[in-house]
Amino acid sequence: MALSTLPPDLPEPRWPDFDRAVAIVILDRLPMALWIVDQNYRLIYANAAFRAQPPAGLPTGGQSGDRALPDPSPVEHYTQWKRSYERALNGETVTITIGAANYYAQPLQCPQRGALAVITAVPPSDSDSATLFRTAIETMPDPFGMYTAVRNLHGQIVDARITAVNAAMCSATGYRREELLNQRLLDLFPHYANDGTFADVRRLIETGAPVRRTTTIVKPSGEQRYVEVHAGKLNDGFVAIWHDIHDQHQLNRRIRQQADLLNQIADAVIATDLNYTVISWNRGAEQIYGWTEEEVIGKRLQTFFETRFNDTTSDEAAAVLRETGRWEGEVEQRRRDGKYVPIHSIVVLIRDEHGTPTGIVAVNRDISERRHFELLLMKANQRLEEAMIEARRQAAEILMVNELHDLLQVCQTTNEAAGVIAFSLQRIFPHQSGYLMVRQPGTANLNLLAAWNDTTTTPTSLTLDQCWALRRGLIHRTCTGEGMRCTHIRAHPDDCTCCVPLVVQGEIYGLLHIAGTELPRSELIVMTGDTIKLALSNLELRATLREQAIIDPLTGLYNRRYLESSLPRELHRAQREQTPLTVAMIDIDHFKQFNDQYGHDAGDALLRELAVIFREHLRQSDLACRYGGEEFVLILPGVNRATAQARLQRLRETVQRRQIAFAGQLLGPVTVSIGFVVCESDDQNMHLIIQHADTALYTAKRSGRNQVVDFADLHLLPFDEGSE
Ligand code: GH3
Ligand code: MG
Ligand code: MG
Repeated sequence: MALSTLPPDLPEPRWPDFDRAVAIVILDRLPMALWIVDQNYRLIYANAAFRAQPPAGLPTGGQSGDRALPDPSPVEHYTQWKRSYERALNGETVTITIGAANYYAQPLQCPQRGALAVITAVPPSDSDSATLFRTAIETMPDPFGMYTAVRNLHGQIVDARITAVNAAMCSATGYRREELLNQRLLDLFPHYANDGTFADVRRLIETGAPVRRTTTIVKPSGEQRYVEVHAGKLNDGFVAIWHDIHDQHQLNRRIRQQADLLNQIADAVIATDLNYTVISWNRGAEQIYGWTEEEVIGKRLQTFFETRFNDTTSDEAAAVLRETGRWEGEVEQRRRDGKYVPIHSIVVLIRDEHGTPTGIVAVNRDISERRHFELLLMKANQRLEEAMIEARRQAAEILMVNELHDLLQVCQTTNEAAGVIAFSLQRIFPHQSGYLMVRQPGTANLNLLAAWNDTTTTPTSLTLDQCWALRRGLIHRTCTGEGMRCTHIRAHPDDCTCCVPLVVQGEIYGLLHIAGTELPRSELIVMTGDTIKLALSNLELRATLREQAIIDPLTGLYNRRYLESSLPRELHRAQREQTPLTVAMIDIDHFKQFNDQYGHDAGDALLRELAVIFREHLRQSDLACRYGGEEFVLILPGVNRATAQARLQRLRETVQRRQIAFAGQLLGPVTVSIGFVVCESDDQNMHLIIQHADTALYTAKRSGRNQVVDFADLHLLPFDEGSE
């Protein structure tokens, strides 16, 4: 449509007084070239015929503002054109003959621009504006008509009478010229009264408002065709040019009808022509983008719509559409409210029956919801994965704690356990430092047993009142200055700390302390602490039980069971090493009397004191056992007869001399009788040996008590069977 290229300052012409837009449309449809130049020989206006084929020697193209003369050198007609322009600009009418064609340059006065020249092929004799237009109108391919108003008695416009038509109008309507001239518009096309066309015409005549509308003409045959009307005011009437848009209109209607079917679906279905002018815009499109059909039909998409391509460019997409007839992909498009929506788009090129592209249809789906769910799904997956990682981490931690438990089970001593604990705590809490304190039984002191990682701030001991956890019997955590810190903690002030009291049977057993920039979960710390405290207290219990099984609780000496398990061992060793072994049996003299005199508790005190005396006289390798109530057995490895005699005599004398006090009173002197036997290397019968020692003891008693008897001397002793 040439209207869009209308130069804004086209001179007000001396030609008929109708709408400038209509004039331009007419000039543009002249079959012969017409152009206007200014004083600098620049084109002010060039019509379509000029632009399509400029007269010989003039530049092609001929856009407004271009030079209207070529460079002089290669053009033979240059001088001729230039001289003619000059003369016309000076007010002359000039005939220019180029080859067989005649052109006529005439002066034209323009208020804004001054002198201009208008050049056309219409002869000067006919080239007054009326003739010019008649010629133009008659030769125009578009139907053209002039109309004057028909008024009633009140002066109201009731119709328009046709005063002139061109040849194209006759062929378009199917009437001969005589049949049209002087006819009334509404007689010919009564439907104009109802479709708004006549209302527009009346307004045009009354106000001069130009008309541009789509309507129909009906031929005598009854055939109806769609036309676009441009009309402008002329005197008490108007002129109108019609363009036949029937085929395009039908095509658009068909596309629209097809698109209407698509109103049922939620997707946006947008049909455009090849220039992206919207032909159809369904309800889905209204809903997704926010513009109504009325707002966008006839508009080019680019003027209101915006598409962002994710992994391609619009040029690439257009190329794919051109080459394959289809493009599909995900884009983001801006809605009326300015927000961008994620869209899945399928764009298809529509072709006519000859395969020529005629339009474009896009089917666009709003995938925000899908994106939303994809995002949710992704987040859920992420959470699941995190949970699994956390579960795996916790399982690994539990495994390490279990391993700690197993290792502690096989530890024999607390020292050994301390090594295992330090190693395991370092593995379980690699990013923290800390220590384990164990309470000294019956005191308020705890001593360091194990520490890991940074041990520079580890105390060697602490007291119960230094730790909030120990004082309250509850786990105590602090973090970067929040919460009361215990006084035993020397960790960095920014560190978080955790103290876990280890309680066994209601008693504080120890403390597990952890510090670091981040703390592990409390459950893990507590679980680790529980494992350690149970293992350690078990270890101690085992040691106690072991001791209780072999130690006599009153005297602290080994018991008879221990004697019976260790004596064969000692006999073996003596045989292996070919060394002597002395076994002595000791019995308190008149102990029954002692008990009677001082009481049973004093008797117990005497037994304990005896054990003290034994320990004073025993060497590292000797063993002292409480064999029965007040009978004791000493095993003296490597001790021969003479040594045994001497040492046992000394022991006997010590007992006799020892003053024993009990409950504030001195107890009377006590003596013991001792019988011993020195084992030969082939003596392996433990019971026989003890029996021999007992026999010697019995002899010592019979011989007056408070003496030492060697079993080997028994046959020497005159001893009176049966007497005291
Ligand atoms: P003897 O000189 O002949 O040995 O005279 P005795 O009174 O010591 O006689 P005997 O060896 O038979 O005495 C055993 C007494 O030892 C009996 C019991 O009252 C006492 N006795 C045994 N075990 C204990 C104990 O654990 N504590 C106390 N106080 N007395 C005990
Ligand atoms: Mg006895
Ligand atoms: Mg006795």
